[in-house]
Amino acid sequence: MKIISINAGSSSLKFSLFDMNDESVIASGLFERIGIDGSSYTIKFNGEKITQEVELPTHVDAVNILLDKLTDLNIISSLDEIHGVGHRIVQGKDVFKESVLINDDVMEKLEAIKGFAPLHNPANMLGIEAFRKVLPNVAMVAVFDTAFHQTMDKTTYLYPVPYSWYEDYGVRKYGAHGTSHRYIAECVKQILGKDEFRLISCHIGNGGSITAIKDGKCIDTSMGFTPLAGIMMGTRSGDIDPSIIPYVMEQEGKNASEIIDDLNKRSGLFGMSEYSSDMRDILARCDEQDEKAIVARDKYVRRVVDYIAQYYVLLGGADIIVFTAGVGENSIPVRRQICEELACLGIKIDVELNNKRGEMVKISTDDSDVLVYVIPTDEELMIARDTLHLIDR
Ligand code: AMP
Repeated sequence: MKIISINAGSSSLKFSLFDMNDESVIASGLFERIGIDGSSYTIKFNGEKITQEVELPTHVDAVNILLDKLTDLNIISSLDEIHGVGHRIVQGKDVFKESVLINDDVMEKLEAIKGFAPLHNPANMLGIEAFRKVLPNVAMVAVFDTAFHQTMDKTTYLYPVPYSWYEDYGVRKYGAHGTSHRYIAECVKQILGKDEFRLISCHIGNGGSITAIKDGKCIDTSMGFTPLAGIMMGTRSGDIDPSIIPYVMEQEGKNASEIIDDLNKRSGLFGMSEYSSDMRDILARCDEQDEKAIVARDKYVRRVVDYIAQYYVLLGGADIIVFTAGVGENSIPVRRQICEELACLGIKIDVELNNKRGEMVKISTDDSDVLVYVIPTDEELMIARDTLHLIDR
């Protein structure tokens, strides 16, 4: 039973092919610079990695080459083995509250909401359209980054702004990284062996969001109307006072979208350190006592701590805190600093247990009041699971 998970960008297409009998990855890869000069693909399988430069005028060409390669390389014996294709969609608004089988009606709805994520949704749709053209008889499923957050209540998802902004323009909190947070919630259910739990899921990578989860359902999340809100990130500011925007517009003679670009691409760790958006670079500079890097790291940690504390209260305490994504899975000192700043909640981590990267591990001490885990996220597997589940239903 084989399922392909797809994450399509405007000029890229990432895939993972799963054998759903044991949820193993048979092959994965990336098609890059689609529609641009110098395009290429990389396919990994069986411990091998093949990289090839090739003309990729459109996403349809990428999908055709992908499917040819899967059979040419004997990764699958025929295309009939592909049971379904799952597609990641960034924004589902309140139209899509869960993953859905793709049909013409779904495509029309996606078309209607694409303006809510103009950089991502149209690109995700290119991937769907390409697969529908090349594999017209294979079932396809859309999995939304926002769907998991649709269980937030109105008090949580509304902003304290004129109500007509919500009614007329759909201004509300939608959140992001929902597929990752849902994967973490499923892992926690397995770890604890029960359906009732209070979980704070910290997806901290280049982008980042923190989600409060009660009994498997999202009750609040740090990202908002867009992924610019919430904690500080690699290049994004997270929450700021909106009055800064017109003030800097005037100072620098910029328009609103230029300032939003600054907040998305030149803020966060990168903006504060004036050096790098990568936590590894920031920590190296901190070791050299670089003041801007130290303040950037400390601000990053503070923002995460603020949200964990906020969600601890919202959940009425926490059974478990999970760190995931690039920084959460790999940055030993950042995890340690966050947990040390949460000591007043009875959270204690074991420095030895914390000394691990990229693997599932409990890092809290036995006398910690809250369990703390590192769990590598797997959004691709979650997409494949949803795809299999919906096709079989
Ligand atoms: P992601 O967006 O989840 O791929 O996370 C990417 C970020 O993870 C990078 O920008 C780094 O800041 C961070 N990262 C990855 N590996 C490490 C590491 N070993 N130590 C600290 N940060 C890391």
